[in-house]
Amino acid sequence: MRPFELLAPETVEGAVGSPGTFLAGGTTLVDLMKLEVLTPRQVLDINAVPLRGIDTTDGLRFGALERMADIAGHPGVYPAISRALLLSASQQIRNMASIGGNLMQRTRCSYFRDVATPCNRRVPGSGCPAISGANRMHAVLGTSDSCVATHASDVAVALVALDARLHLVSETGSRTVELGSFYRTPGDTPEVENDLRPGELIAEVEVPRLDWASNSTYVKVRDRQSYEFALCSAAVALRVEDSRVVDARVAAGGVATVPWRLPAVEEALRGAPATVAAFEEAAALAAEGARPLSGNGFKPSLLRRTIVRALLELSEGSRS
Ligand SMILES: Cc1cc2nc3c(=O)[nH]c(=O)nc-3n(C[C@H](O)[C@H](O)[C@H](O)COP(=O)(O)OP(=O)(O)OC[C@H]3O[C@@H](n4cnc5c(N)ncnc54)[C@H](O)[C@@H]3O)c2cc1C
Ligand code: SF4
Repeated sequence: MRPFELLAPETVEGAVGSPGTFLAGGTTLVDLMKLEVLTPRQVLDINAVPLRGIDTTDGLRFGALERMADIAGHPGVYPAISRALLLSASQQIRNMASIGGNLMQRTRCSYFRDVATPCNRRVPGSGCPAISGANRMHAVLGTSDSCVATHASDVAVALVALDARLHLVSETGSRTVELGSFYRTPGDTPEVENDLRPGELIAEVEVPRLDWASNSTYVKVRDRQSYEFALCSAAVALRVEDSRVVDARVAAGGVATVPWRLPAVEEALRGAPATVAAFEEAAALAAEGARPLSGNGFKPSLLRRTIVRALLELSEGSRS
């Protein structure tokens, strides 16, 4: 690890606008610094900044420093969000890691994390070995000829499905952005991963009130039952009345370069009977435009089946 200066601001004003890299739980940042993927000269430990709080009185609001475990365990949090958190990482990491840090985590592409290999995301213009290399875990949606890495966060998928917003603070003021448009697909500039400006801090995550999101879930398919990133995942909220779908929210993870909302699937579900056949028909639209690589041709069909599984879980729950 390279030497760095460590500062610990105690206010939002003290944290924003400096060239330093924010440190929250450190569960990603410190790893990447040890690997020398990231080599910040200045690190700002923001743990003393007042960015805490979980408010579930009208929708949900989480301070950016709230720990994953505390949000997952809060009784007012929609099930898709708490399940996505509980299926992430390990209990020890969830105790330490913050929601803000989770949303800002970098891809787990093994080439990105290995400074001995080229990687357009880490060193722009150096190439993408994953396209012709080990790409079983990589994306099939939202990819480009520059980068095919998946977005790693589970909870971001649930938050995108539920129209979450980020409250951001910088030296020049504050602004609110939709999480669904915050992340950028790689295009020709995979090194630009999101719309956060230099020195800007995530202060709060807000999820608008959606009463029927009490009937929501997160299904995650992975190579082992715990401590593993998604091969494919689906965050779904479903409103069923008289055996018909009234409304649905659907997003996918593990298959795309950003958390992937699926409006065509949602539209196909609205008004459809809550049956396996209708769910399969809607889910068939999920992988439209997919560009499988040599090692991940299984992902489009896995995505369809993961969505159907989540829909069945919710429709069975709504009958009981
Ligand atoms: C072994 C292992 C397994 C994991 N498995 C999963 C998994 O299955 N699913 C999953 O979703 N995640 C997984 N993770 C990732 C884990 O959830 C993240 O490491 C964690 O959420 C990051 O939070 P943190 O507070 O530790 O962030 P840090 O490591 O402190 O920071 C991460 C990044 O976010 C930036 N940052 C932090 N807070 C803010 C803020 N408020 N505003 C702006 N930028 C900020 C930092 O500058 C840094 O770039 C895993 C991690 C490990 C090590
Ligand atoms: S997929 Fe993206 S992150 Fe992985 S090697 Fe290629 S450019 Fe780098």
